[in-house]
Amino acid sequence: MALVPRRVFFEEEALDYPLGKKLWDWFRQNKRVEVRVLKPRQRVSGIPGKTAPEAYRQGKRTLRVGVRKTLDFQTCKPSAHYQLPLVTGCMGQCEYCYLNTRLGKKPYLRVYVNLEEILQRAAHYIGERKPEITVFEGAAVSDPVPLEPYTGSLAAAIEFFADQPCGRFRFVTKYTEIDSLLLLEHRQHTTIRFSINADRVIESYEHGTPGLVPRLEAAAKTAAAGYPTGLMVGPVILFEGWEEEYTRMLTRVRDLFPDNQPQPATFEIISHRFTTRARAVITEVFPETTLPMDEKTRRFKYGQFGYGKYVYPTEQMEVIRHFFTSQIETLFPTAGIDYIV
Ligand code: SF4
Repeated sequence: MALVPRRVFFEEEALDYPLGKKLWDWFRQNKRVEVRVLKPRQRVSGIPGKTAPEAYRQGKRTLRVGVRKTLDFQTCKPSAHYQLPLVTGCMGQCEYCYLNTRLGKKPYLRVYVNLEEILQRAAHYIGERKPEITVFEGAAVSDPVPLEPYTGSLAAAIEFFADQPCGRFRFVTKYTEIDSLLLLEHRQHTTIRFSINADRVIESYEHGTPGLVPRLEAAAKTAAAGYPTGLMVGPVILFEGWEEEYTRMLTRVRDLFPDNQPQPATFEIISHRFTTRARAVITEVFPETTLPMDEKTRRFKYGQFGYGKYVYPTEQMEVIRHFFTSQIETLFPTAGIDYIV
């Protein structure tokens, strides 16, 4: 089932593109969606929300359908060479989300309809690096999967990359709307990673996202469809009883990936971290948050982009590393661990 926004703003010029027209027809026939047109250079306005939490929630229910003007792709180290700009923003409301500090007080989503130009630009970047492989990340500033049933952007990208001997595509999601991708010709050039967590973290902090089991069922489907499929565990949070809960989570993974089925190829483990700015935004948008953000219990670490973040102290990181390494090696002997950070 598709997740549908409450209001959609169309840039006028987006209607000149096949995807813009398709989305126009699709949203116009849904009476519960408010549809508006933006003149050139007109800004999105009129999203309701007087308080920070309400502005945030209404922003998450708003979509802008537009034309991607700049076709200079952002770099995306270390996981990929470039971001592939298909969508920005996400309908999810995860308290710890890195997007909370990036998209303003009304964090509306954007989908870009000039797909063909975007993919041609990707071909240009691939050509520049040939014969090296160039990797593109489709979820650097978004979770594009909930929109996929009506945009088809990921499907177009997957089919494009299937034809690129030197291009690879990857994206990560917490969502499950992947059925339209299962029968595509992908030639294993696209890696799909699912972000998972212990039930307690999902229930407490990942509002508006599917539970663990549906995510794993979706992951099992993409693996069975031959996609290289990875699991990203994060943010790992050290709460009372965390070892039991994360053991239960990994056991569920084991149950949903029986030995006679394709297995998760990789695991990525990311411990919880926060910046001072993120904490300020989180406490404004989620005044009741119970996210552990006491800097006295953390180690301050300078990040690669010049700002510092609070991470778990070295001894606790060692415990996390040991726990996940031994569990994954035992339960999933064929899977690799890309990193534990
Ligand atoms: S699903 Fe991912 S991108 Fe969306 S709010 Fe949650 S953490 Fe952020």
